[in-house]
Amino acid sequence: MPVKKGKFKKYVYCFAGGKAEGDASMKMILGGKGANLAEMTNLGLSIPPGFTISAEVCKIYYELGKKWPKGLEKQINDNLKKIEKVTKKKFGDFENPLLLSVRSGAAVSMPGMMDTVLNIGLNPDSLNRLIEKTDNERFAWDSYRRFIQMFGDVVMGVPHFAFENELKKVKDKYGKQLDIELNYEELIEVVKNYKKIYERFTKEKFPEKPKEQLYKAISAVLESWNTDRAIKYREINNIKGLVGTGVNVQTMVYGNMGESSGTGVCFTRDPANGENKLHGEFLINAQGEDVVAGIRTPIPIDELNKLLPKNYKELQRIRKILENNYRDMQDLEFTIEEGKLYILQTRTGKRTGASAVKIAIDMVKQRLITKNEALMRITDDDLDQILHPQFDTKELKNKKPLTRGLPASPGAAVGQMVFNAEDAEKWADLGKKVILCRRETSPEDVAGMHKAVGILTSVGGMTSHAAVVARGWGKCCVSGAGEIDIDAEKKEMKVNGKIFSEGDILSINGSTGYVYQGEIKTVSSSLSPEFKMIMKWSDNLRKLKVRTNADSPEDTLRAVQLGAEGIGLCRTEHMFFAESRLSIFRRLILFAYESRRIESVLQRLSSDSERIALEKEYSKVNKEYKKALSELLPLQKRDFRGIFKTLKGMPATIRLLDPPLHEFLPKNLQEQEELAEVTNISLDRIQHIISDLHELNPMLGHRGCRLGITYPEISDIQVRAIIEAAIEVKRKTRKNVLPEIMIPLVGHYKELQLSRERAEIVISKVFTEKKVKKGYINYKIGTMIEIPRAAVTADEVAEFADFFSFGTNDLTQMGAGFSRDDAGKFLDEYIELGIYDKDPFQSLDIEGIGKLISIAIELGRKKKNKLKIGVCGEHGGDPKSIYFFNKAGLDYVSCSPLRVPIAILASAQAVLIQKSIVSKKKKAGKKK
Ligand code: ADP
Ligand code: MG
Ligand code: MG
Repeated sequence: MPVKKGKFKKYVYCFAGGKAEGDASMKMILGGKGANLAEMTNLGLSIPPGFTISAEVCKIYYELGKKWPKGLEKQINDNLKKIEKVTKKKFGDFENPLLLSVRSGAAVSMPGMMDTVLNIGLNPDSLNRLIEKTDNERFAWDSYRRFIQMFGDVVMGVPHFAFENELKKVKDKYGKQLDIELNYEELIEVVKNYKKIYERFTKEKFPEKPKEQLYKAISAVLESWNTDRAIKYREINNIKGLVGTGVNVQTMVYGNMGESSGTGVCFTRDPANGENKLHGEFLINAQGEDVVAGIRTPIPIDELNKLLPKNYKELQRIRKILENNYRDMQDLEFTIEEGKLYILQTRTGKRTGASAVKIAIDMVKQRLITKNEALMRITDDDLDQILHPQFDTKELKNKKPLTRGLPASPGAAVGQMVFNAEDAEKWADLGKKVILCRRETSPEDVAGMHKAVGILTSVGGMTSHAAVVARGWGKCCVSGAGEIDIDAEKKEMKVNGKIFSEGDILSINGSTGYVYQGEIKTVSSSLSPEFKMIMKWSDNLRKLKVRTNADSPEDTLRAVQLGAEGIGLCRTEHMFFAESRLSIFRRLILFAYESRRIESVLQRLSSDSERIALEKEYSKVNKEYKKALSELLPLQKRDFRGIFKTLKGMPATIRLLDPPLHEFLPKNLQEQEELAEVTNISLDRIQHIISDLHELNPMLGHRGCRLGITYPEISDIQVRAIIEAAIEVKRKTRKNVLPEIMIPLVGHYKELQLSRERAEIVISKVFTEKKVKKGYINYKIGTMIEIPRAAVTADEVAEFADFFSFGTNDLTQMGAGFSRDDAGKFLDEYIELGIYDKDPFQSLDIEGIGKLISIAIELGRKKKNKLKIGVCGEHGGDPKSIYFFNKAGLDYVSCSPLRVPIAILASAQAVLIQKSIVSKKKKAGKKK
């Protein structure tokens, strides 16, 4: 706004007499509270008259070293006059005194973080007048006592407890329990003593001049913007880009003037389930903060219809007006002063996921909003909540958490504590619900993790093994709860001086990270018709396909029921962790290792006698290797058959073995001994092999396609299992089977070329054996793009690939150069410092890793313009990342089963966002 010379900028905006100088769109200038007070005034609702000092003043105040800008004082006084005219009261007058509140309110709501001062303008003169007018001495003295306390605390920093102690002293003296039991004479004593406390702490007299009270309160509210807790709150909630708080100066109305007065808070719809009905609570004869303070138990809003029916009807009318105006559910504060209803605040109401979905759909039906708006209003957190069981909110309110970790995988779990994976399996098989408590988890624990209802770890971040695996299953997990000390040997857990042992009951909340002692009731949320409607609308809009990451028929089925259109990542290694298979696989590894070793020695030997002896050993070892392979084949085939059947013709991307072999070998002695027995290899030798396979940096070690290149027999058996299973299922079900064999961790095109050639040989062999035509199974062979080298040479890689799938976890790890397992140690600080906006393992680093992806897409499609490209990392279920993938032109995203609906919605939102960006650009273009 250009400012005329000699005139000051507009700092103060009036809302009085049915007209306001602002409206709801001016949140950045007036703050949320002020903008909505203005809007409601314009709507003709009864709002106590007042004015708002703009948020910019807050900024200037700090720039000037805590001083008001020139011109502000005059603007305040001019507006004060307007209010006096409308209310026919006078500030600082003792005939008909105007009393005021000074209220904070920034553009983004920060509930309870900043300050408010009520009853400004009270002094001995106006107090007497108030008593005369209301004929209510108790009310007047109580208001004065509250004022001194609030002013002392908020404006002058007198410690809260000093007043509270004093109040208690007086109550004790007269044998009273509650504040409201004090009569006016006792309150006069409190006031007297409060003033003394005030003087002692501030070395000043309590100010009696209303103007002085008002000015000091305004400055104090400006300063509440920068208290430690307000700064911390903005940091935690990632609130950026605000200049400061607005300050609202408003005529006081009193809910504590008797039985026809009261105060309350309500929602225009039920925030828990979305029911289209006024929801809230109130207190008769009370002031605003009493409802929230919990001194008295509030009454459900329906009761107001009996006590003050006229006001109740009016509230219902206002509910309609506000919803029609804001086109969203509102959360409002009201006060009734002797039968007259005033609205003191409104804002968009917070709600549960289920409520969000129901409200959005209902509002479309009411034609308040469009389908597209409804889709944009629902967040991933909303859907996440609906898809996981939650703790009963009422029970949760009364529970104090034991400690807190990271909200690694959402949901709620209650179970008995166990301290190792075998116990988890054993107990679960006996029908018990268990929470697996570990320092951290490793692939060995997977079977036990699967059987547990929840997982708790004391170390590890959001992408630790426990977190990633649990999210994959949609299982509740709290990771990295640092205060917990777990002793797995003793089967004991210590936290904050308490000791827990095996069998004790724990409740963990994977949505918040809180851990509770004992049982908390859970409520499961079913898939409502409203939820299905959201999915249907999304399907009609989206361009991206959504697949799932699943390793078993059960997970696949769950994902398909939630809308998945195939599998984007089937990790075959998880299939080896089941107990019966693990032992076969361990044998396989040992004999594979031994035969590889002997082969290389044989190549170097020259003496025939040595050679003959060794060849004998080789043939023995190799036989065992082959035997283990052939035992594994039918088991893998069974897995794939189950998955193919469940998919009913939809595609499945199956990744060949990825993790390094040593992850499968036992760490404890007992299991090593058992392995020695079944293999006839000496314990010594086994330990030697284990230590030889050990890697310093396994993430960059002997894994992925590197395994398949050095141990091709293992890949062969996997490819064979996939194709044989595909043929069998296709024959039996007469439905198509679309296997997509994915070679992991390719960095150089030759790796893919070699792996592919080998796989093709196996496949044609299987076709011949099974007597089917070459094209009977329409298979594809492709690769993951998860190594930066592959991304920047994607044109070369594409020549040998039928598809690309971005493994964004590894791509982030290798592209940014920090390990998924260790980054937790510094990432938090990085995010605090703003180096990264968000954890790049959760939300794609679009500028960096996104660029690698864009390069790979461009190069890949230059070579093959129809190359199918998807993504299968954690990011496939993250909305922000999905918006990017949509724009980048991917064909599909893949994510864990429970995130499928989130990805479906986000894919639709991506289209809407893209459209709105395009139309904005067009408009801007026209303007030029
Ligand atoms: P917060 O943002 O923390 O809710 P508010 O500014 O809304 O703070 O005020 C705190 C309490 O004081 C609320 O209960 C509100 O209703 C009450 N209050 C604020 N201004 C007035 C007023 N002018 N008359 C009566 N009550 C008020
Ligand atoms: Mg409020
Ligand atoms: Mg990988």
